[in-house]
Amino acid sequence: MFLTFALCAAAFLGCSPDMSSSSSSSEKWRYELVRSLVEKSDAVLLQLIPNDSMPGDTLLAHLGSGVFAWTNPGVHYVLEVESSEAEMELNRFQSVGRKVYTSPRVNEGVCDGKVCRFEFDGGSSLQSWFFALSVENGRKPAPKPRAVRYGAAGTYPAALDLNLVFLGKLTGYSTDSAQRFFAERLSEAMDSLYADAAVNVSLAGRSRGSAHPVAAYAKELVDSVEVYFDVGSWAVHWYNGTHLMLDADELARGWSEPLNGALDVIVVESIDDPGCVGISPMPGYSLVGGTNATVVVGVRTTSSSGAMVDNTIAEIAKAISHETGHFLGLRHTTVTWEDRLVFHDFSIHEDGLSDTPFDPLCDAGIASASASSRAYGTASKRLLPLRYEKVVRPDLIGLAMDESSCPDYNNLMFPYIVESDGTPTLSPSQGAIMRENLSALPR
Ligand SMILES: [Zn+2]
Repeated sequence: MFLTFALCAAAFLGCSPDMSSSSSSSEKWRYELVRSLVEKSDAVLLQLIPNDSMPGDTLLAHLGSGVFAWTNPGVHYVLEVESSEAEMELNRFQSVGRKVYTSPRVNEGVCDGKVCRFEFDGGSSLQSWFFALSVENGRKPAPKPRAVRYGAAGTYPAALDLNLVFLGKLTGYSTDSAQRFFAERLSEAMDSLYADAAVNVSLAGRSRGSAHPVAAYAKELVDSVEVYFDVGSWAVHWYNGTHLMLDADELARGWSEPLNGALDVIVVESIDDPGCVGISPMPGYSLVGGTNATVVVGVRTTSSSGAMVDNTIAEIAKAISHETGHFLGLRHTTVTWEDRLVFHDFSIHEDGLSDTPFDPLCDAGIASASASSRAYGTASKRLLPLRYEKVVRPDLIGLAMDESSCPDYNNLMFPYIVESDGTPTLSPSQGAIMRENLSALPR
C-alpha cells in the first residue's frame, strides 16, 4: 500500500505552527491573522488560483484571514487588489509538510487609492503558502476588497505534452492495438480543439501501469487487475491478492525526459462516482510530479442505479480535453450545485469571461437539476488539495434538464458531456488563461 500526503490540508488535519522559524521578523502579531486557519482542523481553505477569471465573493471575504496559494520556480507573481486603502501589506506564511512558519515574508503594497499591487517571485521549488492581507503594519486584517487578480507569468512554453498511462485490464482497451487506436483518436480530437486556443498539445507517450518506471508500482499494477479511482482518497485502487491503493499523483513520478514534464493522464476502468467520466484538480500545480499533477479518466462510468456503462472513445477524449482545461485553470462556463459546494462559494455562477456565453435561466436550471439529481457528501470535508472539477454524463444520473437550451453547451467547459454534442469549442479568453498558466508550469 502506498499513500503520500504532500500538504497538510490533504490529510484533513490541522497544520501546526512552527515557532522555531529563523525569520528575522519580530512582528509576532502578524501570525494572529492566520492562526485560526492554521490551527483549526476543520477550517476551510480557500485557494487563490493563478490567472483565475472568477475568484468569487467568498475568497475576497477571506483575504484578510488567510487563503491558500502556491508558487512555482521561475514564475513572477503579481497580486492586484482593488481597495481604497492607502497602505496594505501581503503576509506570506510558508507551509512545509504539516508545519506553517509563524513569521511571514512581508510585501508592502504599492497602492494608489484604487488598487494595491504586490509582486514577488517563486522560490527554487514548488512552495505552498497561507497569504493574508493586512493594514496597520500587520496588526489588523485588511477589509474585504472589491476584486482581486492573482497573475502568474513564467517563461515555460505554451505547449502541453500528454503521457497516457493505461492501468490494468480496461474493458475494450486491453490490447496494444486498441490503446494505440484510442491514443490516435484522442490526438486528433485534442489537436484541432486546442489549436483554436493557440495551445499546442501533443501526445508524448503511451504506457501501461505494468511498465511504470517505478519498479514497485509496475510489479503490482499488472495487466490482469481491474483498477478504479476513488475521489475521496485521490487514489487508484485494485485487488491483487490483497487490496492495494496508490495516490494518483504518485503515478506522475519517475518518468524520464521528455515524459517527465508531460501531463500524466491516468486511464482507469471507472471512477467511483456516479456519472463521472473524468476528473482533475482545479487547477493543477505541477507537470513534474507532486501534489495535483495528474488527471484521471474512466473507460466506463457507473450510473446512479449502479449499472456500469461503456463510454465511447469520443466521450473519453472529450473528458480528457475538458479535464485538461481545468488542469490549466479553466472554470465551468455554467456552474453546477456541486461546484458551489466544492468551492464553498454560492456567488459564482459562471466563468466571468465575456466571450463564453451564459444564460441565467440555464444557470438556474443546472443548479436546481444538479442539486436534486443526487446526494452529496458534506462540503466541509472538501479541503484542499482535494478541490477538483469533473465532467459527468447527465443520462447516467437522471439529470432532468434540456442542456441544449444553454447557449454554452458546445463549449468544452460546459459541465456535462452530452452524446448529441457537436464539436466542442474554446474561446480566445479561455485560450489566454491556459497559455498564461502553461507559462507558469515548470517542465
Ligand atoms: Zn468540469
